[in-house]
Amino acid sequence: MAIDVKDYLKPHVSLSMAERLNLVRRRFADESHIVVDQEAFKKDADHAVLFICPAQVFKLNEKAGTCIINFEDCLECGSCQVARRYTTWRNPKGGYGVTYRFG
Ligand code: SF4
Repeated sequence: MAIDVKDYLKPHVSLSMAERLNLVRRRFADESHIVVDQEAFKKDADHAVLFICPAQVFKLNEKAGTCIINFEDCLECGSCQVARRYTTWRNPKGGYGVTYRFG
């Protein structure tokens, strides 16, 4: 579904996460710019990193107990880097990453 920018600014419009992410232009690199220390993640009973990211980049692999990193959805907000529980974040390599339409 194509979303008009003016619709996004209307207060009554509710957008899914996928629709919100589609408002940001992203060019995906072939390798992740985010690394999670999986052993530290497994030891963290709260799995705090799952709740830090506004783009829901981090997901729990319930079967393996590991953290799945959907780095393609990263908005480069820096929240996981500030929290730094067991994530290492660096800028995507040159030419890749996000481009915001609204500043
Ligand atoms: S920089 Fe922001 S959007 Fe990207 S993974 Fe970290 S918390 Fe999520």
